[in-house]
Amino acid sequence: MKQPSWNNLPLVDSHLDLAENVTLFGRDLTLSAAEIRTIEKRATRQATVSLPELERGGIAVVFATVTAGFLAADVGENFEPRSAIYHTPEEAETQALTQIALYEAWEKQGRVRLLKSVNDLNHHLQLWQNDRKPGLVMLMEGADPIVRVRDLSQWWQRGLRMIGLSFGDTKYGTGVCGGNSTFKQGGLTAEGFALLEQMAELGFVWDISHLAEEGIWQGLDRKFPRVCASHANAQALTPTDRHLSDDVIRAIAERNGVMGLVLYNGFLEPRWKQDTSIAVTLDDHLRRQANYVANLAGWEHVGIGSDLDGGFGLEESPAEIDTVADLRKVGSVVPAEVREQVLSANWLNFLRSALPQTA
Ligand SMILES: [Zn+2]
Repeated sequence: MKQPSWNNLPLVDSHLDLAENVTLFGRDLTLSAAEIRTIEKRATRQATVSLPELERGGIAVVFATVTAGFLAADVGENFEPRSAIYHTPEEAETQALTQIALYEAWEKQGRVRLLKSVNDLNHHLQLWQNDRKPGLVMLMEGADPIVRVRDLSQWWQRGLRMIGLSFGDTKYGTGVCGGNSTFKQGGLTAEGFALLEQMAELGFVWDISHLAEEGIWQGLDRKFPRVCASHANAQALTPTDRHLSDDVIRAIAERNGVMGLVLYNGFLEPRWKQDTSIAVTLDDHLRRQANYVANLAGWEHVGIGSDLDGGFGLEESPAEIDTVADLRKVGSVVPAEVREQVLSANWLNFLRSALPQTA
């Protein structure tokens, strides 16, 4: 078989919060990052992600999040914008459905393709070679929008294919948000167990990111069939409970899962949060993370879940990254013989084994 040339390699980013940036924060993702920066005039968290940047960077597949907004108990009632706050499961559900509606509208406008099956994915990758439109797999980050476990089949019908149970604490389990140095205790609730069981039956992928470790083991012990970490780093190098212990990383690999490494400076270099003058680079810091995970799990389980628009931006990202279009540079910090796997094939293989054959 002919090897794809480097520029035609369809990159995968396993975690971007595209819709939330539009529906909660009012960003126009149909513009280039440069245009967004000119409009927003921000000094921090400047835009790095937009639809034209994904096209320009050859990012063919994105796990695009569907979120609940922010729980009042986590962020306080003064969080801005107020419209991003939710108090009840019904409010969370409304936020999430608005985000799905945006993805559907983008698809109608020809800006993206929603991927719900292996057939969708394969067809998309053919079209992508010519039109460079990103394909989106919808991933719920924090399951509070699922008001009742029995609603799950409706979410499946709507196109959702992956779910992480928590961000902060949800009614389904103990979550770790951005991480704590004193490791948070707590696992799945009774509803969390029930949700996972239904997810397993319907065909959902389980994303363990943001779940406290006890909950991860509870789900793994019950042999959940399709597991990944859409965005997390190695706890051994970034020692908070937001990241994965060696045992969890090995367990994900044993179950044929993939782990998407996060490109946020504070997750790549723990000292950066205290001292933002420390230069964080792909060449140094991401290389170290990638090598560490590969040594434990093997390169076939390493991917990129950049999270570049997850509440941070240009100033909080590695030096080599101006926009998400620079993601291909990750290829130069992993061994040449595994570049294609890390940037593309590992996640594509995962999707081919995890998604249903037809939608
Ligand atoms: Zn996240």
